[in-house]
Amino acid sequence: MSAAADPLTLITPYGGSLVDLVVSAEALVELKAYANSLPSLQLSERAISDLELLATGAFSPLNRFMGRGDCQQVLDEMRLASGHIFPIPVTLPVEPNHQIRLDRDITLRDAKNELLAVMAVEEMYEWHLDEIAQKIYGTKDSRHPLIAEMHSWGKLNISGRLQILQLPRRYDFQDIRLTAAQTRAQLETFECANVVAFQTRNPLHRAHEELTKRAVREKNGVLFLHPVVGMTKVGDVDHYSRVRIYKALVERYYDRSRVLLSLLPLAMRLAGPREALWHALIRRNYGANFLIIGRDHASPGVNSKGEPFYGPYDAQELVGRFTGELGVGVVPFEELVYLPDEKRYEEISKVPPQTRTTSISGTEVRDAYLNNGQKLPSWFTRPEVAEILSDTYPPRHRQGVCVWFTGLSGAGKSTTAEVLTTLLPEHGRRVTLLDGDVVRTHLSKGLGFSKEDRDVNIRRIGFVAAEIVRHGGVAVCAAVSPYRPTRNDVRNMVGTERFVEVFVDTPLEVCERRDTKGMYEKARRGKIKDFTGIDDPYDPPLHAEITLNTISHTPDQNARLILNHLTHRGFVRAASHIVAATHSKMVDIEQAGNENVQEMGTY
Ligand code: ADP
Ligand code: ADP
Repeated sequence: MSAAADPLTLITPYGGSLVDLVVSAEALVELKAYANSLPSLQLSERAISDLELLATGAFSPLNRFMGRGDCQQVLDEMRLASGHIFPIPVTLPVEPNHQIRLDRDITLRDAKNELLAVMAVEEMYEWHLDEIAQKIYGTKDSRHPLIAEMHSWGKLNISGRLQILQLPRRYDFQDIRLTAAQTRAQLETFECANVVAFQTRNPLHRAHEELTKRAVREKNGVLFLHPVVGMTKVGDVDHYSRVRIYKALVERYYDRSRVLLSLLPLAMRLAGPREALWHALIRRNYGANFLIIGRDHASPGVNSKGEPFYGPYDAQELVGRFTGELGVGVVPFEELVYLPDEKRYEEISKVPPQTRTTSISGTEVRDAYLNNGQKLPSWFTRPEVAEILSDTYPPRHRQGVCVWFTGLSGAGKSTTAEVLTTLLPEHGRRVTLLDGDVVRTHLSKGLGFSKEDRDVNIRRIGFVAAEIVRHGGVAVCAAVSPYRPTRNDVRNMVGTERFVEVFVDTPLEVCERRDTKGMYEKARRGKIKDFTGIDDPYDPPLHAEITLNTISHTPDQNARLILNHLTHRGFVRAASHIVAATHSKMVDIEQAGNENVQEMGTY
């Protein structure tokens, strides 16, 4: 059943034909004018992805966000009310709102208010988080990313006929963003009925390349490389880097007459086995009659007890059970390991005991290689992939970091920050100094010292610092920043793992004695109001990364203390690296004839 009857014809869409909800060009002008007269609903990123796939038939035969009947049957039996298999609810949750009423039309828009669709509200019904959590995700654990997300969804689902005015605009990788119909048209040119789909949200390494090639050989088919570029798991490699990787591999390492690469704007649910079945159904609509499924397909990671949510092979098993009816066969794959002595990959179960094998885990890819600026070895990944990943994840000493000084006026923030700003470039880092007093002369010109103005000032500095850090720079910020919650906001804007809070802990009496700007004297005489430490509070940090004493230590000593902290964390390269690099070059040359062993030996 999983192989198509005719060796040259693709499997038909599920339910017989592809759903197409996009209105004709003739109807468009009139419908646009009508849409602009209706109340609007702005869709979430997830709903926009769902709408796009509904509109273009990826979820055929489903042609709308689910009504109560469909939704209930999906929960209980993994089927639509029509009896068709459908394992995941595709719903449109909204907050109760007087603008959205039964038997009225509404306009669906994207985040920038662009028109997407007109929807007839034919049903409105309540949904129950616990029921969905248990039936779809098999858990109530809010560590499951979808369960955590569902808490923020509107309490009512709406459903009804959809007329699509415009598909969501996508500007990146347009040449390989193919709808189900466009994909089918391209697959037909291969004149091969067996199409093996590969779903992925990760970079492809040599093991993946090997297993996709094996699957295609085994089925005598075409490989349909169909990565998800919609919402995946937080922390995944960004889709731009991934797609650059897929393109490079398809161009250089696959047989172009047997592979099609196209992007799927799916918002994943990370629902393990049910999601795998959904992936199979979607791929059938794109023309595939096989789906490669390995261990932990669409896995959400581990639960609050540190255990996996689903069994490693539950997904294979569930899709296998529906293969006869759905027409999509499972190509299971086992973990492949590398045999360095034979320079090839093999399935783990076929490797004789005592054979030397090697592998690199995802954690090692990040910690042992990328963070240390080490190129991934060529037995593990293609050089093009190694290059893109090291661009995307530069070593720590080229990643951004923010050093945030806080303390009373006159504590010594600017003085220490200035010393640090000259030491960092000495170690090859580029620095931007954002000094409170200086920022107040341009970026924050006009702001005073009311609580609101101080918060605005600090958030502006935080925003700029976060941008600098995102682009790999060092932002050194020196502002009184007296309020703890605001400093914590800034920490979150930058990302706590790249935020180094430096508390310049100089007692008020000392600052007042220094009184370099004559401000304390004025504040004591009431000439300046709301002066920090005098008549406005200072919340000292509770968990600063570094606390400085400016009485026992000079500015130079304190700046070196911070530099040492940054070096220890890897944000600054230790001076000894130059010697080390020269040494490792020599080792490379000596072992050039034995590439794999040398690279293995490094770790
Ligand atoms: P802030 O930026 O915290 O308002 P400044 O750095 O502008 O403070 O002023 C601190 C003053 O204290 C400077 O005049 C500096 O010379 C003096 N000072 C004395 N000892 C130290 C020290 N160990 N660290 C920093 N500044 C010191
Ligand atoms: P904030 O975090 O309060 O915005 P900034 O570092 O941007 O702090 O600016 C504080 C500097 O402005 C102080 O070093 C001081 O010289 C000057 N200043 C003027 N009025 C005040 C005030 N009311 N409170 C604190 N600093 C003041």
